[in-house]
Amino acid sequence: MPTFDLTVMMYHYVRDPGDLCEAGTGIRGLSVAQFEAQVERLAREHAMIAWPDLRDLLIDGKPLPASACLLTFDDGLLDHYHTVYPILRARGLSGLFFALARDEDTGLALGHKIHFLLPVLTPQTLRDSVWNWLSPAQRERFLLAEARYRTYFNTGSPEDDILVLKSVLQRDLADEVEWILSRLFERHIGDEAATARGFYLSRDQIAAMAAGGMHFGGHSRSHPWFDWIGTAAQAEEIAASARWLLGIEPGPWAFAYPYGGFSTRSAELLQAHGFAAGLTTHEATSHSQPFFIGRYDGEALPDTWSAVENRRGQCDG
Ligand SMILES: [Zn+2]
Repeated sequence: MPTFDLTVMMYHYVRDPGDLCEAGTGIRGLSVAQFEAQVERLAREHAMIAWPDLRDLLIDGKPLPASACLLTFDDGLLDHYHTVYPILRARGLSGLFFALARDEDTGLALGHKIHFLLPVLTPQTLRDSVWNWLSPAQRERFLLAEARYRTYFNTGSPEDDILVLKSVLQRDLADEVEWILSRLFERHIGDEAATARGFYLSRDQIAAMAAGGMHFGGHSRSHPWFDWIGTAAQAEEIAASARWLLGIEPGPWAFAYPYGGFSTRSAELLQAHGFAAGLTTHEATSHSQPFFIGRYDGEALPDTWSAVENRRGQCDG
C-alpha cells in the first residue's frame, strides 16, 4: 500500500500517586495533568482521528486528514475507564484500547505481576526470591539468559538491572516462573485474582466505553513476546483476541503487539484472524505496512513537552 502519515500515541498507566487506580501499589505512570496537557496539545496541532478512520484507509484506501493523530491505550487497565475515558469524552475524542482477552476470574498477566512486585521487593530481592524456587537446570538457563541481556542493556544506569531481570522472566523463563511470581504475589501483596479484578477493565466498563464512542483492539490473552513464543502459540493468542473482540465490536480490528515484539509470521496470522492493522512500539510517523504501524510512547515524551505548553497557556491568559 502507499505510504501514509499518521502520529499514533501509545499510553499505559495514567494515574497519580494515591488515586483510585494507583491505590498505593507504587506502580507509577503518566500523571493525569501531564496526560491532559498532552491531549490538549495533540488536539491543537493535529487532526484527531478514531480507529474507523484508520480502518477505512487500510481497507478502502480512504485518505486520512492531514496531520492525523490517533490515541491508543494498552493492557485494558482500570485507568482507562476511570481517568482516560472522561478526559477523551469531555473533548469529543475517541481512543483505541488494546485490552487483553482475559476472563474476569483469571489472575494477572506475568508482566503485570512483575509491575506489582518490583515496588515491594526491589529488583535484587525479586531476583533472589525467584532464584530460590528454580531447579539447577533452570538456574543454568537463567544465568545464560541474564548474561545475554546484559550485553543489550549496558548503559550503566540502575534501570539496566530491571530490564535484564524483566527480559529473563518475561521471555526465557516465562513458563517456569509464572507460578513462582503468583506465589510471591500471594505472599507479599495478597489475593491475585481479586487484585486483577480491580486492575483490569471489567466487561461492564468496556461496554460503557464502547457505547461512548471508544474502540477496542486485540493485545493477546497472556501478553507474551511474539518474537519469543512459537508460531502455534502466537496463532492461539491472536485467535483468543479475535474471539474476545467478537463480543465487543465488529471487525476487522487492530492489534497491538505485546511489548512491541513480533515475528516474520505475525502479519499473516493477524490477517488470517480478521485483523487489519498491527501496532508496534517503533517510533515512526510515516508508515507503509498495515501490520507494522509505529507509535510514540506518551510517557517517553520529555516533561517540557507539556510543561512548555502549560506556561504558554498561562501567558495566553
Ligand atoms: Zn501491553
